Amino acid sequence: MAIVSINPYTLKKLKSFDEMTENEIEKAISRAHETYQTWKFKSYEERAKVLNKVASIMKNKKEELSKLITSEMGKLIKQAEYEVDYAISIFEYYAKNAKTFLADEPLKVETGEAYIKKSPIGVLLGVEPWNFPFYQVARFAAPNIMIGNTILLKHASNVPQCAKAIEAIFKEAKAPDGLYTNLFISGKDISKIIDDKRIQGASLTGSEKAGASLAMAAGKNIKKSVLELGGSDPFIVLEDADIDRATDLAVYGRTVNNGQSCVASKRFIVLEKVAEEFLTKFKTKMGTLKLGDPMDETTQLGPLSSEGALETILKQVNKAVAQGAKIEVGGKKPNLTGNFIEATIISNITPEMDLYKEELFGPVASLYVVKNEEEAIQLANATEFGLGGSIFSKDLERAKNIANQIDSGMIFINHPTKSSTDMPFGGTKRSGYGRELSVLGIEEFVNKKLIRVISEKEKL
Ligand code: NAP
Repeated sequence: MAIVSINPYTLKKLKSFDEMTENEIEKAISRAHETYQTWKFKSYEERAKVLNKVASIMKNKKEELSKLITSEMGKLIKQAEYEVDYAISIFEYYAKNAKTFLADEPLKVETGEAYIKKSPIGVLLGVEPWNFPFYQVARFAAPNIMIGNTILLKHASNVPQCAKAIEAIFKEAKAPDGLYTNLFISGKDISKIIDDKRIQGASLTGSEKAGASLAMAAGKNIKKSVLELGGSDPFIVLEDADIDRATDLAVYGRTVNNGQSCVASKRFIVLEKVAEEFLTKFKTKMGTLKLGDPMDETTQLGPLSSEGALETILKQVNKAVAQGAKIEVGGKKPNLTGNFIEATIISNITPEMDLYKEELFGPVASLYVVKNEEEAIQLANATEFGLGGSIFSKDLERAKNIANQIDSGMIFINHPTKSSTDMPFGGTKRSGYGRELSVLGIEEFVNKKLIRVISEKEKL
């Protein structure tokens, strides 16, 4: 089957690529495995040289790469430029810090010597989503390449040009053939690749369904896996919050990346006392966003990444309304070409409705009004997801205390969840396991090997 790139704004087909044959997949695995035999012995300095070169090529191509992101998946151009910069900073961060992060760790022993050596494990498979086509790849590839592992990467089928561009950048950086290989394959080929003895681990960012299927294949083969899956982040507003700032950030948190971020703020949980003010301001700000061409810098909300994504979210909204929820603003497909949905707020959601449990992957906010802090915490935890979350309050101690009671991988106080190179990123519950970024992100696919030297004086 062909892998097709379609512009979600114009709906025009941009390019199409053939899926790899079995023979081509075999060659890719074999090259990655062969390269691993030498890459694992390279110094950190040699590995860093390749990543720094990748970063510098990306800097030179920033405009071209940003436009590619926008044309393939509809991200606003300024956000696409930010993404390219951020991916560059991840390559540079691991090039600079890996040696320190992976230094031998001495252990306290009575006699002789003991330490933990962090060694590479081999060829890894990464399966990445379309919503941040460069950033997602960087946060998986950069730390693992610095460890000494080699990478096979299956990107999402709707961003094949971004996928090709990343591979071409590694080639231009003179990375050894097989260090980073793009795989044009479909989901069904994943388990066969994981079955291969030369593959030592796999990581997936995406939906629960895809994650479960990859984890099953990895588990069956006793191979390590990392899963970064969906989320339904709560955004809690306490009565002492600055409502102007909270509503500005509510719009940002729900519409960044056209609402298609795993850590987008999705469930707005507002204390009764400030609910009316919050809703009035939130409604006005969501309702006046300018929809349009994502290449136009004045556009505030672009199209969803695909027709399928639009269909899914419209179905979710319509079903919620049929089940008794109320549309406060938006809710429809506007009269525009492209996969658009209006910025939407839905209220009157009850636990019996499907929407109560589902992730909304688009600019649609669920609004809940609660009596007190206890109810807010209970509702925040009433989800199978556990990725991010945020709490808005002037009382930082109170906010931290609430943060302690929410079951999720990341909680931000006075800001929607966001990612940065030096902070661990990942979730709990059905949002997955393992961490990316920071020092934790480089520790997932290493062999923490114990080396113990027994003193000759020690008794037998
Ligand atoms: P998706 O369908 O799961 O796609 C993600 C990747 O998995 C793609 O490369 C896809 O390939 C592949 N895939 C699909 N089915 C597969 C299968 N059965 N086995 C192995 N691989 C398979 O995800 P999506 O719906 O496009 O992306 C949105 C989801 O990702 C949301 O739930 C979002 O919250 C989550 N996400 C999580 C994070 C995080 O860090 N936690 C970050 C971003 C997104 P094809 O494109 O060829 O199907």
